[in-house]
Amino acid sequence: MSGIEYFAMRMFRVLSKLRLTGLLRLVAETVPFMKYFKGFEKNQAVRGIFGGETEGVLRNLKVGFTWFGYMGVDDRNGHLMVNKRYLSSGSKEDIYLDVIHELCHIKQHMEGRDLFDPRYDYVDRPTEIEAYRYAVREAKRIGLTAEKIRQYLKTDWMSTEVLDRLIRNIDVNLEECQ
Ligand SMILES: [Zn+2]
Repeated sequence: MSGIEYFAMRMFRVLSKLRLTGLLRLVAETVPFMKYFKGFEKNQAVRGIFGGETEGVLRNLKVGFTWFGYMGVDDRNGHLMVNKRYLSSGSKEDIYLDVIHELCHIKQHMEGRDLFDPRYDYVDRPTEIEAYRYAVREAKRIGLTAEKIRQYLKTDWMSTEVLDRLIRNIDVNLEECQ
């Protein structure tokens, strides 16, 4: 891992920690998930995650807002955290796939799994690989090209090597995409 990459990973960790602890105190309100994200209770990918419990889980799910980042789960209370600016400026496909990814984390959190297990690098963490795999399968299903899926997976701090490692870990064949 290069020095810059290492620094980026460190920064990322610090930021995700801040996001889920200190800065969250700035969050003023939570709103019901179903008020902001309509129709997910009928979505097949989401039903694949929660099965018969889908409606109940989504009805109880709360959304809190942040001023930075994209989307995440607050592992203290199981709330979905969303950057409002990302909601208004991000691509609809990215947001949709992020919701699928984060709902996977909600399910993992309900199962008592550690979403931020520090023994793993982000792209090697089993909970992340599972959530990404689920989102990428859905991306394929809705017809995203392999290139688009790569773009979706590449976060600002990720080097090409790290992105390739993530894609290897996800282990979904992108060749079949157009
Ligand atoms: Zn994740």
